[in-house]
Amino acid sequence: MSKNRSAETVQVVVRCRPMNSKEQAAKYDRVVSVDVKLGQIIVKNPRDVPKIFTFDSVYDSNSKQLDLYDETFRPLVDSVLLGFNGTIFAYGQTGTGKTYTMEGVKKDVEKRGVIPNSFEHIFTHISRSQNQQYLVRASYLEIYQEEIKDLLAKDQSRRLELRERPDTGVYVKDLSSFVTKSVREIETVMDVGNQNRSVGATNMNEHSSRSHAIFVIAVECSELGVDGENHLRMGKLNLVDLAGSERQTKTGAQGERLKEATKINLSLSALGNVISALVDGRSSHIPYRDSKLTRLLQDSLGGNARTVMVANIGPASYNVEETLTTLRYANRAK
Ligand code: ADP
Ligand code: MG
Repeated sequence: MSKNRSAETVQVVVRCRPMNSKEQAAKYDRVVSVDVKLGQIIVKNPRDVPKIFTFDSVYDSNSKQLDLYDETFRPLVDSVLLGFNGTIFAYGQTGTGKTYTMEGVKKDVEKRGVIPNSFEHIFTHISRSQNQQYLVRASYLEIYQEEIKDLLAKDQSRRLELRERPDTGVYVKDLSSFVTKSVREIETVMDVGNQNRSVGATNMNEHSSRSHAIFVIAVECSELGVDGENHLRMGKLNLVDLAGSERQTKTGAQGERLKEATKINLSLSALGNVISALVDGRSSHIPYRDSKLTRLLQDSLGGNARTVMVANIGPASYNVEETLTTLRYANRAK
């Protein structure tokens, strides 16, 4: 049965990155093929028949950042400008292109990811609006080991708590936010947060594979209505570069490492459970409370909010097990 995609609140897309130079040099088999027209990902499996997965949209290794933006992200950001909440997740094994999808290559306009493209989109929209007044605020936080860190705070050793109020719902107590009036200003905010994120991380790749980074843009709009009153609407855009989805509990992990690994897997599986409960539509209970990530994003997942999950995969044979795991996760979320 075909569903009306545009009306759906949760959309899952898959993106396969190109072979990198190491993989080419090692002459790994390409086991993933992408059928853009049919929305299918086909995975060759040496010991089994090929596995076929179908999604809302799929993007192959030639996909352009701007095409993803226009087709998949722009409608969500438009809804935020209208006062709804929205969340974009990049999911996948470390090295498959989560950060490329979210941030991309800053200096190269064509390779900019969804975050810089959304900055451009939001401020262009604002500059063209005539009867509305906008206020844009940015926050940037990280969840590491189920602890919340404000990436824009002066004191980077502080951990923040989640609180709940009957009127406004769940929020992060004392989270800083900066009013930004231009693309340049909001880029600066992101740069500061990224610098703070890398400080103290001896290996950034390892750190980012174990923590979730969440960039939040709150867009407030006030408009004079025909009734002569000012109307306020507020939309929130959450841009989430998730921890690596690879199985963390490799043999030998002990003590702190094992505890850390368990927590990472827990928050990603909690997210999967929330999204599949939302998609299912029949569950009366959505298990938001099971992780910091899902609690924090509660008001931006489900209800009137829109969600796009980009599942990133690699094409090479040696990743086939992780690739299948990612596709199964994504499949459950759609
Ligand atoms: P992750 O954040 O999931 O660990 P990265 O975004 O850092 O992965 O990507 C790993 C490498 O692959 C980077 O060098 C990145 O530039 C490159 N890459 C990822 N996706 C693409 C893509 N679609 N096109 C070109 N290069 C890509
Ligand atoms: Mg990354």
